[in-house]
Amino acid sequence: MNLISLELEGFRNYPLCRLDFDPGVNLIVGDNAQGKTNLLEAIHYLGSGKSFRTQRSSELVGFHRDFSQLQGKVFSQEREQSLRFVLFRGPRPRQMFRNGAKKKTLEEIAGVLPGVLFCPEDLMVLKTGAAQRRRFSDLALCQLRPNYDASLAEYNRILEHKSRILKEHHENRAMLEILPEYNLRLCQVGALLISYRARFYRAMEESAAGFHRQFSGGREEFTLEYKTVSTVKDPFAPVGSLVEDLQEHLQRHYQAELDSGQCLTGPHKDDFTVRLSGVDLKTYGSQGQTRTAAISLKLAQRELMARQWQEEPVLLLDDVLSELDPGRQDFVLNQITRGQVFITCCEEGRFTTLGRTIHIRDGTAVDN
Ligand code: ATP
Ligand code: MG
Repeated sequence: MNLISLELEGFRNYPLCRLDFDPGVNLIVGDNAQGKTNLLEAIHYLGSGKSFRTQRSSELVGFHRDFSQLQGKVFSQEREQSLRFVLFRGPRPRQMFRNGAKKKTLEEIAGVLPGVLFCPEDLMVLKTGAAQRRRFSDLALCQLRPNYDASLAEYNRILEHKSRILKEHHENRAMLEILPEYNLRLCQVGALLISYRARFYRAMEESAAGFHRQFSGGREEFTLEYKTVSTVKDPFAPVGSLVEDLQEHLQRHYQAELDSGQCLTGPHKDDFTVRLSGVDLKTYGSQGQTRTAAISLKLAQRELMARQWQEEPVLLLDDVLSELDPGRQDFVLNQITRGQVFITCCEEGRFTTLGRTIHIRDGTAVDN
């Protein structure tokens, strides 16, 4: 599967731009702030309907513009297909088209242009906060399982309502009457999230362990543990029993939530831990080990996507290679023997021989 061409109109700093791509490696070169990451963001958005930088699609619309358009020609599922998005500055919802037909849900475009983004922040994801790790996993899971995306959005909606109840119940006692309803719904949708995540992390562990073994010459054993609400003893249990586990935890923290005015319990606090030969990376990992493990996770994500969609996803490497030492660069590049890759960097350096080079200046492709 590969992106053949892309047309951007009023997307971030791209006024109007049409690009043709190589089915192999595409090197995107330009100085800082010229639009390299914006271009990767556009490709990622076209395939997933999601930006890896913002939740608000109006931010993607160029300054002083009312709308923005992204259009791509893709070779996928053994035929040529097209994807198109129109985004608006105001509250008007975006429009989404696949092969010219208007679509409503992300599920209807899933699998046409799956993509995996890898950026320098990901290299440190195992060291930084739980929120970054949740984002890292959620972005991957949303693309693997479009239904997860819908459940996650619903969970966040309910959570937002519940937060408001917890904050305002002192002034308005009547709000407490609707709290049990929100709590139940939260447990029901939360149980679904846990079920998806448990399976996702198990598959990620299996695949990442293989990459890490190769990477470390068999010296380190990579393990990943999913951490969720403490009353959940088995995240693989049937959803009905997960709902009961979540309710139990909620019940225990009912008063504490009212007192603190915060949602203290639920899978919105989930996390995962990676260990190398039993040693917790977050606490003890060296910078090199942390990076290597993160690369293994990203390659695993790519493998799971390839398995899910029966096609190699496009790989978007944003500034990541220049952050790696030559040994790790080679490991990553050697894993990319198939599929289409987009690599951004400030100078061509050692990657010049890889494939097509596209120079970007001020939101426009230039000859050099
Ligand atoms: P770096 O090498 O520093 O990572 P880059 O080439 O990746 O740079 P981008 O992140 O793609 O740069 O951003 C390029 C420019 O796009 C920034 O100067 C930013 O101000 C601008 N920009 C971001 N959003 C919009 C928008 N909605 N409308 C117009 N310009 C925007
Ligand atoms: Mg950038």
